[in-house]
Amino acid sequence: MSQLFQIVYLSAAAKGLAPAEVDDILIVARARNASADVTGMLLYADKSFVQVLEGERTNVEATFARIARDSRHTGILVLLKQPISARNFRDWSMGFERLQPGQSADFDAVFHIDRAVIEERMTAPQADKVMVFLRSFYSAATREQL
Ligand code: FAD
Repeated sequence: MSQLFQIVYLSAAAKGLAPAEVDDILIVARARNASADVTGMLLYADKSFVQVLEGERTNVEATFARIARDSRHTGILVLLKQPISARNFRDWSMGFERLQPGQSADFDAVFHIDRAVIEERMTAPQADKVMVFLRSFYSAATREQL
């Protein structure tokens, strides 16, 4: 029986990563995710990435294993890694947003999260904050399409 799974991580863009290289990442990500039925979102701000991947567990883990080996980013910190009952980004093979630091109240809580604390254990309120922040982009985009 397949299980829906989600991984959310934070990472630092490699030094000197150009905007065009982020576009290249997205082209490959969208094609590969579509064929593996992986959905999610990538946020880029302040030279950092936050990405959510969701789908069948084996596909999500295989995708994340490739991403983790990629030299275009470093310092990967897994924020959430858990089974889910439903997808949060079901229509997106990989949604993308470039953000400005300070753009929203929760920006710091996600992008400038205290690594030492997270490596110990993410609390439920911190985990909720991350997901509320991520889902707000999906809700906004979905509303725009109406
Ligand atoms: P190949 O494309 O054959 O590449 C071989 C190796 O080089 C891999 O280690 C690859 O990671 C690395 N690499 C590839 N191109 C470059 C480059 N231009 N500069 C430096 N290193 C490079 N892939 C997905 O499938 N889904 C995603 O959602 C996804 N999200 C990503 C998010 C971020 C922030 C980053 C940095 C990468 C993401 N990728 C994603 C790309 C992923 O890391 C792989 O490059 C891609 O999946 C192809 O894997 P491959 O094994 O076929 O590697």
